[in-house]
Order: sequence, then C-alpha cells, then structure tokens
Amino acid sequence: MNQKRITIAIDGFSACGKSTLAKDLAKRLDYVFIDSGAMYRAAALYCLNHQLIQNGELAKEEINAQLSAIEIHFELIQQEPHVFLNGTDVSEEIRQPEVAGIVSIVASYKPIREKLVEAQQKMGKQGGIVMDGRDIGSVVFPNAELKLFVTAKPEIRVQRRLAEMEAKGIQMNVDEVRKNLAERDHLDSTREESPLIQVKDALVLDNSQLTKEEQLDWVLAKVNLLVTN
Ligand code: C5P
Repeated sequence: MNQKRITIAIDGFSACGKSTLAKDLAKRLDYVFIDSGAMYRAAALYCLNHQLIQNGELAKEEINAQLSAIEIHFELIQQEPHVFLNGTDVSEEIRQPEVAGIVSIVASYKPIREKLVEAQQKMGKQGGIVMDGRDIGSVVFPNAELKLFVTAKPEIRVQRRLAEMEAKGIQMNVDEVRKNLAERDHLDSTREESPLIQVKDALVLDNSQLTKEEQLDWVLAKVNLLVTN
C-alpha cells in the first residue's frame, strides 16, 4: 500500500533537540530532512565573512546588494546532510560560537528570511519532508499535516548544548551557553518578522524526561495515524 508522504513541521526554542528528532524521523520514514537553522547560520557566516555585521548592526544596503550572491544548499555525504555556502561545505563552521552569537540578528532581517523561506518551500513541494526551525508551522508550511512544538526545561537544554559542543571539540563554558540560548530565544520570539510562536494546531512535546528513542516513538505514533487514515 502506498502511504501518504506528509509534511512535518517542527518548531521550538534553541537546543530542544528539534534537529535530532527531525533527523531521526526522516531516517525512519525515508523523508527529506532540512535543518532550516543551518541555512540561517550559513547566511550569518556569509555576513561575518564579508563584514556585513559590525557591533550587532547589519549593513542592510550591502546585504540587499549581495543577496543574490548567497547560495545555500544541502548535500548528503555518507547519509548525513551537509550545508554548503557558495560551494563550500560549512557544516562545522556554522556551529562555532561566533556564528551562534549573531545568527538571530541576521535571521531577523526580512530580505534574508524571504530568500530562505522561498528556498525552503521549494524543497517541501513534494511532501515527504521533515523541517525544523522557528517559523516552519507558522510561515513556511502553514498547511503541514503534522506540526510539533518541542520544548525542554532551560537547564536541560543548556546541558545538551554543552555536550553537543564538547563532542564537536568546541570549548564553551556553561555560562556562555546559557547566555547565548537565552539571548537567541528572546530575539527569536520577540522579533517582528516571523517570530517563534506556538501555533494553535501544533502538538506540544516536552522532551525534558524523554530519551531520543522515546520521543521518536511518540511522534511516529502520530505520523502513523495521519498516513494510514
Ligand atoms: O536551529 P538553530 O538553533 O541552529 O537556529 C539558529 C538560529 O537561526 C535561531 O536562533 C534563529 O535565530 C534562526 N532561525 C530562524 N528561523 C528558522 C530557523 C532558525 O529564525 N526557521
């Protein structure tokens, strides 16, 4: 029997495990996985590399003039999605604290959002996609069949992010991580353009006490109901 290939939108605060969940789901369902945050991080890296942000201020006119020169795409390398910025694999570089420190400022700029949202919508045209971010259920795929809003207790998120950075060999102390997550959550949920919101039709998943496997099973049960009905 051919099962329906649906669109799954996952939103939530920083370091809630959205990407891990999205990636696991996509593997299990044989769907495309898109980490939209990686695209904003790549755009932020472009701004850093081209001195388009200084002291937290965006050089808006220059960004507008260079928008068409920013090309971001994903490629699967040994089954893992890698993000490319103008032909260079930047998957590791975008996780550096310098990028995390400015990404929410870059992501609040409307022309950047419009460009990336258009690309995201194109990638999701056929269905069979899991995308995580901040505005996926509200703006990118408002008609997604399944919308999730993922949360976890702030201190658990800090510990998870620390462990993730350590595994990547990036040194950060607990206060730096706590500060960065709090700042980004604040900026992301209070900005004018597509702020992070919990849309009415999203299912809330608090994964503070769940293992990766438990949260995956919880979501797969919801997906099964949707694809078999
Ligand atoms: O998901 P991640 O934490 O890597 O995202 C980095 C940043 O990109 C977020 O803090 C947010 O500012 C921005 N973002 C966004 N909209 C999305 C995904 C990410 O504004 N859909």
